[in-house]
Amino acid sequence: MTSRPFNFAAGPAMLPEAVLSRAADEMLNWHGSGMSVMEMTHRGAVYLSLFEKVMADFRRLLNLPSHYKILFMQGGATAQNALLPLNLLGANRKADYVNTGHWSTKSVNEARQYGDIHLAATAESTAGTPHSHPFTFIPPISDWKVRPDSSYLHICGNETIGGVEFWQWPDMKALGAPDVPLIVDMSSHILSRPIDVTRFALAYGGVQKNLGIAGLTFVVLDEALIRDRVKAPLPGCPTVFDFRKVMENDSMFNTPPTYAIYLTGLVLEWISAQGGVEVLGQRNQEKAELLYSALDASSFYQTRVERSARSFMNVPFYLPDDRLYESFLKGGQERGLINLKGHKAVGGLRASIYNAMPIEGVRALCAWLAEFEKEHA
Ligand SMILES: *Cc1c(COP(=O)(O)O)cnc(C)c1O
Repeated sequence: MTSRPFNFAAGPAMLPEAVLSRAADEMLNWHGSGMSVMEMTHRGAVYLSLFEKVMADFRRLLNLPSHYKILFMQGGATAQNALLPLNLLGANRKADYVNTGHWSTKSVNEARQYGDIHLAATAESTAGTPHSHPFTFIPPISDWKVRPDSSYLHICGNETIGGVEFWQWPDMKALGAPDVPLIVDMSSHILSRPIDVTRFALAYGGVQKNLGIAGLTFVVLDEALIRDRVKAPLPGCPTVFDFRKVMENDSMFNTPPTYAIYLTGLVLEWISAQGGVEVLGQRNQEKAELLYSALDASSFYQTRVERSARSFMNVPFYLPDDRLYESFLKGGQERGLINLKGHKAVGGLRASIYNAMPIEGVRALCAWLAEFEKEHA
């Protein structure tokens, strides 16, 4: 096998090599079944046993109480931008959103098709703030204006493009909206550290950043949100995307993405084998601190995100001269450091250092940062 590069892509992202080799070993014959997982009927006992273990492992790693349900769906977090309002807006069709970046903006714009959407806070404008770039900070939570009769408040826990992560969750009581359920897009930091999911009525995301391959979406929700609160989706919600139907049918209303679920199962087993979410949280902190301190120690590289909102998963940074990017990326590639280009919305560079990125990858990146600075400063 040729040596694998350190892949800093934001998603689909690097997977643990152990997961890939296991998938390869089991490709033609899963546990003596004589079949590949891809070939199994989702209603058969063999697949169901696998499916139930994935659900149980996910529940255990999230530390979920029994009144929380896990739904496996399709369409990515992007589909949820429509499905959340469709399922949750209820009769008054009011929802509040906090806009901290690219992904929140997408959520807001999609939701506007379905109801009366209010921005409780936004980091789009820097006016009246000490910040010089939009979407590089989280507006102080105590200043958020949440409508108390809103159907929910939506936040993006980790802005994958801007590199802005929540380290403190809003307290809905303190915001004067004790009855408003809190919803979070956790696509890019799910299981990256211990997070008390019961702070949220619902958490969702695609798994291709930290938990598997493209094709599977998770929705983790307090069943009371549907059972006691909204009761029914807006008219016109496709049946296959009606949370009640998905829940009643244990995420098998129709054919689920069977192989993607299996792969997530392998990633969950890998997380457990590493020592669980706490151990990964410590490792992720160590990796992020290593990279941020290398960037901070240099006057050559720049970061823009407010320190208290820095993401441990996605680290955007900039070079002092636009003409240098090409050679930085090329030199990185030659050293096996790939996909470091920033998202076109913000430019610059970005290192995504999810669970599967070993600390050796971050060390190699730091060595390249030092070498490149020496050459060009
Ligand atoms: C990647 C990402 C999305 C979009 O996910 P898709 O699976 O492509 O729909 C949404 N939100 C966040 C925070 C993301 O990182």
